[in-house]
Amino acid sequence: MIEADVIIVGAGPTGLMLAAELRLAGVRPLVLERQPQRRVTPKAGGLGGQILELLRYRGLLERFQAACTDPVPAPRFPFGGVHLDFTQLADPPMHALPLPQQLLEQLLDERAGELDVDLRRGHEVVGVSQDAAAVTVDVRGPDGPYQVIARYLVGCDGARSRVRDRAGIGFPGTTYPEVNRLAQVTLPDTVTILGNGDLDVPGFGTIRAGFTRTDRGLFGVSASPTSTVVSLYTIEDESTEYDDDTPMTVTELQDSLRRVLGVDLPVGKALRLSRFTFKAHQAERYRHRRILLAGDAAHLFPATGVAINAGMLDAVNLAWKLAADIHGWAPAGLLDTYHHERHLAGARTMLHTRAQVALRRGHDVAAEALREVFQELLADESPLRRMGALVAGTDIRYPMPGSDQHALAGTFAPDLTLHTDQGTTSVAELMQTARPVFLDLADRPDLRQIAGDWQSRVEIHTAKADQRPADAVLIRPDAHVAWAATIDEPADTAAPALREALTGWFGTP
Ligand SMILES: Cc1cc2nc3c(=O)[nH]c(=O)nc-3n(C[C@H](O)[C@H](O)[C@H](O)COP(=O)(O)OP(=O)(O)OC[C@H]3O[C@@H](n4cnc5c(N)ncnc54)[C@H](O)[C@@H]3O)c2cc1C
Repeated sequence: MIEADVIIVGAGPTGLMLAAELRLAGVRPLVLERQPQRRVTPKAGGLGGQILELLRYRGLLERFQAACTDPVPAPRFPFGGVHLDFTQLADPPMHALPLPQQLLEQLLDERAGELDVDLRRGHEVVGVSQDAAAVTVDVRGPDGPYQVIARYLVGCDGARSRVRDRAGIGFPGTTYPEVNRLAQVTLPDTVTILGNGDLDVPGFGTIRAGFTRTDRGLFGVSASPTSTVVSLYTIEDESTEYDDDTPMTVTELQDSLRRVLGVDLPVGKALRLSRFTFKAHQAERYRHRRILLAGDAAHLFPATGVAINAGMLDAVNLAWKLAADIHGWAPAGLLDTYHHERHLAGARTMLHTRAQVALRRGHDVAAEALREVFQELLADESPLRRMGALVAGTDIRYPMPGSDQHALAGTFAPDLTLHTDQGTTSVAELMQTARPVFLDLADRPDLRQIAGDWQSRVEIHTAKADQRPADAVLIRPDAHVAWAATIDEPADTAAPALREALTGWFGTP
């Protein structure tokens, strides 16, 4: 007997976002998370890219901004040893929030609670099987083992995804030997922080402030005589494979300092210890019949700052498609567009993060020259904007069926200000409920009448827009434009084209 519409394995950022989006689409997910409590291992220090705009479209951005621990920094992002410096631009193509991952997960958890998501912590998925009708999951819970049967299962279970393994989905790619360790610690009185930020270590001598490259890797220190807390950073190549969920220890940090710099550094209190490694892996497919993958289970990128953005956007893309299938109106092939669209987006993120590996790992003069040339190019506005859109994931244009598509089709819907009979609103406001929207911006009763056949699934709005990039726009729940038309041609094909788009995305009326 089917007990859940969708089982989500894993309550990280991807699984929690998916659960909330499914609830908005009227589906009841069951989230199974093996850890009994929310995690405390420090991971991402912030959230950036297209997901921030999506959160704004869901009416959540202000809440996320309010939870930030630090002021929002000037937009400047590392990119493989160089920097994307958007401070010169009034409207930067990329934004970020200094929202540590623990806080992000807390907010997403609270949101899931508000939407009445069934979230079970301390429940580990140990087995998965599927047939034509359902997925069966073996769970090890606090009260013993049990089984759940669901229509679909989504593995949001991270880099070492058991779901991916059980579904037999390949995860080819490269694991780089580079291990980065970042620590904020206090030092005992025996170590002196000099006026210029250098450290004087008994029995070793002076460690220069800033970065020091050695035969074994890179060491960095940032210290000030006015603060007892110093930041330490090491990068070295290692053959050990680490699990990101295994916390780094002070001993691990000290061992790394000894290898990279040859120093025995006494450490007082550790305020933050984190380790990250770089892998470039992407699941061969994001769907195998009734099992789907999202987030780190589907992709691992070899650079920082992009993974959560990609994972949460996977969730937003997938939720409404799964819901359409469960509600029984999904047109043929709708669920497969999840793989087509998000695998494409993942490949694009892989492209620039792999380029970052090439930029950052070279240590000879030729590599230095490459970084310098790259940094010079990024001083110009056009390449800077282009790179910003690439890193943010805002340049994604999903391929839409049919030829001769409008320039908006497949892109993230622009946030137009809309004047309606009921007052002024915006695309962002209309997307808060995560329902498809048909926008008639040129007062076309014939188009509204066609859309009316789908009114149980699609919201219909007539408005005047200050800026009108199209006369009519059909927007999917993930805020991507399914279809748009500018009606200036003598043979007006908008009506049949709209009907085709509505059928193609939202099924037969
Ligand atoms: C030190 C560090 C810094 C990082 N910095 C950044 C950054 O700045 N920006 C960024 O975007 N990303 C960053 N990342 C990566 C980011 O943390 C991950 O991309 C993100 O956590 C992935 O989210 P997810 O929900 O897909 O998977 P995860 O967060 O890995 O969540 C998976 C969940 O599934 C659960 N699970 C696994 N197996 C099972 C099972 N069998 N049954 C039930 N539950 C299961 C796990 O317990 C876990 O809670 C960083 C990572 C590290 C380690």
